Amino acid sequence: MIWRTHMTGEPTKELVGDELVLAGWAARRRDHGGLIFVDLRDRTGVTQLVINPEVAAEAAELAHQIRNEFVLRAEGTLVARSAETVNPNMPTGEVELQVENLQIVSRSTPLPFQLDEENVDETLRLRYRWLDLRREKLQRNITLRAQMVGIIRREMEAAGFLDIQTPILFKPTPEGARDFIVPSRLQKGRFYALPQSPQLLKQLTMVAGFDRYYQIAICFRDEDLRADRVQELTQLDVEMSFPDQELLYDVMERMYARIWREALGREIQTPFPRMTFEEADRRFGTDKPDTRFELEVEDATAVTRSSQFGVFKNADAVRFLRVPQELSRGDLAKLEELAKEWGAKGLAYLVYDEEGEVRSPIAKFLSEEELALFRSDPGTTVLFAADRWPATSRVLGALRTHLGKELGLIDEDAFTFLWVYDFPMFERDEDEGRWTAVHHPFTRPTNDWQERFHEDPEHALAHAYDLIVNGNELGGGSFRIHEPEIQAKVFELLGLSEEEQRSKFGFLLEALAMGAPPMGGIALGIDRMTMVLAGEPNLRDVIAFPKNQAGVDPMSGAPSEVTQEQLDELGIRVLEQPA
Ligand code: ASP
Repeated sequence: MIWRTHMTGEPTKELVGDELVLAGWAARRRDHGGLIFVDLRDRTGVTQLVINPEVAAEAAELAHQIRNEFVLRAEGTLVARSAETVNPNMPTGEVELQVENLQIVSRSTPLPFQLDEENVDETLRLRYRWLDLRREKLQRNITLRAQMVGIIRREMEAAGFLDIQTPILFKPTPEGARDFIVPSRLQKGRFYALPQSPQLLKQLTMVAGFDRYYQIAICFRDEDLRADRVQELTQLDVEMSFPDQELLYDVMERMYARIWREALGREIQTPFPRMTFEEADRRFGTDKPDTRFELEVEDATAVTRSSQFGVFKNADAVRFLRVPQELSRGDLAKLEELAKEWGAKGLAYLVYDEEGEVRSPIAKFLSEEELALFRSDPGTTVLFAADRWPATSRVLGALRTHLGKELGLIDEDAFTFLWVYDFPMFERDEDEGRWTAVHHPFTRPTNDWQERFHEDPEHALAHAYDLIVNGNELGGGSFRIHEPEIQAKVFELLGLSEEEQRSKFGFLLEALAMGAPPMGGIALGIDRMTMVLAGEPNLRDVIAFPKNQAGVDPMSGAPSEVTQEQLDELGIRVLEQPA
């Protein structure tokens, strides 16, 4: 016996008259006084089965037992549908299988939800993920992801990159998140850390002379989950020796162009535009600007230094957005709430109504010069942030993104890719009163800062870059430090004692001292990329088996408790029992 001759998405007019065998899931059964219709589905599509008691009495009898999601095998003749019953919306819509033999291969218990049901609770979907994944949207997302990964592999290999696998049980590799740790049984009291990225390992493949490395790597970051964060993220991880920035950008751009072409049938413009971090921050208030729309941040600080309005006068920076709409008090109150969430104390504004009259509680405090600067077309609202510079970026950047969506300023059909480069090398952790690396501690300073980054860490720039599409960060990378002395100096600046440097990164410093080539690379998030490609807002819906926002897998129940025996073997005592 053969299970099938065709996939259920394949039968078309050309096959009419042929004997086919199909197998798949019953998506729907309809009884039409005698005739029974079943939509038979597999991942390629749906074919309609017709079971006519006059043609196949036994099959018709059996067909009454069919419920949704039963697995069936059907033999029969492919026939053309009559003109009135042709369904132009489906590729197999002109034909149907006239069933002669039917087999129920396996049955299903009553379903916890129907596959075509909308707004099913996500926990329920995750609990029965095998069913959820049968839905058309998830089939499409996961298939698109596989297709994309295939293209990535072909492009990387064509460009001479070698797929090298790196260990999952390793040592901390700092990328700014908390580590997942795994206790060692053989070395009681010791722990592995799951890599936050293969950063150090890929650098070692360069020291080892492999020249070009890539991997579709899983990175583990114990973060508090937000809508767009997962704890296990998948990256295309890349590294090259004797790095050539143009070549690296070019390989990535070609790869994206091909993904967009082959997966979406869309041509995207290459090379991608480039912008320094300073420009992105100044014009858009963010390091990942959505350049599908304008609405740029403007700076009024030069004028407001001598303001009569205390809030402006005393602020390090006063910046504003000219929103092309006359916003109501209600709108403004909502925006103020949002601004406060981003750390603003309030939201000052000027509204220019349709007559061009200004409406604002602060207008009376502003000088002629200030009013002249803010003067806008009728039907405009000017929104201000007055604070330290980074705080004004944070608030106006967030308002800009929000308003772009809210006011329909975004061309939803567009894809705007952008490289942002020359990031600051360090940022101050105010709570801990020390410097931290903006990218990671292995990132090299730009040529200009090589000799003096430690003298002025606040302004030092890193040879680092991010790739942005439509305001989403797809990933980023940098050129690395290959000189052990510079690496040690960075560690020192980050507050690592010599002892800590040795215990945490001794192997790296040693390797760098044994003939390390210059190197650089990048990592791009596969999950995020799939979201953008599929136009899918839910990160979990581009991952086959994701965890929920509490880091729990409702399907298997992970994370779960272990036996006392296992704990004893590991030398671990649990102090806090799970709730
Ligand atoms: N390891 C970095 C990351 O995971 C990427 C890189 O610098 O190549 O973000």
